[in-house]
Amino acid sequence: MRLPLSTWPDIESWLQQSTCIVLPIGSMEQHGPNGFLGTDALCPEIIANHAESLAPDKLLIGPTFNVGCAQHHLGFPGTVTLRPSTMIATMVDWTESLLRHGFDKIYWLNGHGGNIATIEAAFAEIHARRSFDPRGADTRPDLWLKRRDWWDFREVLALCNELYPQGHGSHATASEVAVTYWAYPERERQHTAMSPKIAPNGSISDAVRYRQDFPDGRIGSDPTQANADDGGRLVAAAAQCLIKDVATFVSH
Ligand SMILES: [Zn+2]
Repeated sequence: MRLPLSTWPDIESWLQQSTCIVLPIGSMEQHGPNGFLGTDALCPEIIANHAESLAPDKLLIGPTFNVGCAQHHLGFPGTVTLRPSTMIATMVDWTESLLRHGFDKIYWLNGHGGNIATIEAAFAEIHARRSFDPRGADTRPDLWLKRRDWWDFREVLALCNELYPQGHGSHATASEVAVTYWAYPERERQHTAMSPKIAPNGSISDAVRYRQDFPDGRIGSDPTQANADDGGRLVAAAAQCLIKDVATFVSH
């Protein structure tokens, strides 16, 4: 079931059978010359929705948290970001909204490496708020929060190594661009040559420095390798992993 396409009675009856919800979480940031700005939000959303189409009774997919921490990409037009403190506050509000309805297992399927530290900080903030508030502590349900990065599923990693033995990289990767091309094939870009073919690697700090070090936005990658067919294989693998991983989380 998908929350944005459900009614409130649908959600009320879902809660009779499950108190788990999956939230795709990503970012709105430049993804090199041929990747969409929404790539990091689209990938977990595409994978979650595909998994839901395979197992509609097992998964409830919530709204996509589609703007994350991307200050280092602000040198490129179109990037939209939250400060870490804003993102933490927003995640607290999303979580406490869901908790009020009875959701006590919240699984965040993440699509952006730059979100990881802030997601974990948000989890710490949410748990701290509960620890500081003893009211009803004896009777309230436990709250379980989990972050999973879609590219980190073992089968997905193995497939990425097989498909892209060279130039997979760490930003604007061939795999994430391929996933979006599978979902939006009419928007697949003709591959223009990129120079250098494999982008440089390096560390990141602020937006000005980033654009100096990585002028076309890529880090370590050659996303000209991306195509929709490979994207479909990645989505299929990730969706199966997600179904299994959520089942384990639910039975926790
Ligand atoms: Zn990305």
